Amino acid sequence: MFDLSAYNTFNLTVFAKDGREICSKQDLKEPVSRPYIILGGGSDVLFTEDFDGTVLINRIKGIEVSKCSNGYKVRAGGGEILDELIDKLLDKGICGLENLSLIPGTVGAAPIQNVGAYGIEIGDFIESIEAVDLKDGSEHVLGKDECKFGYRTSLFKEPEFSSYFITHVTFVLPNCFKPKQNYAGLQSVEFKSPRQVRDRVIALRNEKLPNPAYVGNAGSFFKNPYVTTEIYEKLKAKYDNMPCWQQEDGSYKLAAGWLIDKSGCRGIKHGQVGTWGNQALVIVNLGCAKPHEITALAKYITAEVKEKFLIDLVPEVRLYGKNGEIAWDQI
Ligand code: NAP
Repeated sequence: MFDLSAYNTFNLTVFAKDGREICSKQDLKEPVSRPYIILGGGSDVLFTEDFDGTVLINRIKGIEVSKCSNGYKVRAGGGEILDELIDKLLDKGICGLENLSLIPGTVGAAPIQNVGAYGIEIGDFIESIEAVDLKDGSEHVLGKDECKFGYRTSLFKEPEFSSYFITHVTFVLPNCFKPKQNYAGLQSVEFKSPRQVRDRVIALRNEKLPNPAYVGNAGSFFKNPYVTTEIYEKLKAKYDNMPCWQQEDGSYKLAAGWLIDKSGCRGIKHGQVGTWGNQALVIVNLGCAKPHEITALAKYITAEVKEKFLIDLVPEVRLYGKNGEIAWDQI
């Protein structure tokens, strides 16, 4: 049995049949029998029970930096910690990723979810991704356009590509500092350096979000919902202070955290689990929660939001059961 306690930021006591740290492409030449799961920092996963297979943990390290015509090219190992990469790049005077500061997890996991924060998404800066297909050990390089980056999603979430183990990510980062500061907390501040943006983002996140080192959690549990103009207009007529952002295609993004809050679910506690008082979107393990307590609270929240707003929230966190990934409606 392989103890997964240190490999999931919910701090759940769960086990896999077997586990292996992957430190190079070479380590992927050995066959892996199904079922298997690929993990980075374990910061975006919920194990709903013990996993009856092998967990492959990405520990491929290394950062290579070179100049290119429009800035810098940075090739990083998939097992590098994203936040440490951002910090090291800023030390070298290379900016671009600072709004993603303090997002937990690894470089290899970040593109799968296309992690985003404070108005940027990691996919915006990716040139290519190197992956090994665990089905046959073949090596692949995918250009940005092939990765199908979308809101908290990418090609790597499609079942056909779930066997792709991301070994390296190559970023193209700009020559000059142009702060992106359209989010509250970053507006009306004069940032003289990307390091100042990073410090501000870290302060904002520390104010609002629980540190997984002390309180088990997997960041935003649900995705923000996107709704049609018709639904938006009905809701806006009823809740005129509802935060919303119109998208290029005419749809509206709503804030899942606000919907949860207004459904009476901010800061609630159900046994050993709850939602965070400063950000209702985060489900927390208050001590020694069991996986089923987390899924039960998540189902309760979705039912409350559905009843009040007629909106279906879906998890951003990926769910894994006995045989591998499971869909939300299978729970
Ligand atoms: P917040 O600022 O209270 O905002 C709530 C939601 O409104 C966010 O989810 C954000 O959507 C959206 N939003 C806020 N200002 C916006 C703007 N100017 N334009 C478009 N959308 C806007 O949220 P928060 O909890 O403090 O989080 C701040 C940022 O950190 C957000 O970008 C959030 O996604 C990110 N974050 C990520 C994680 C994670 O686990 N990946 C966890 C916590 C926070 P978006 O989510 O689309 O940005």
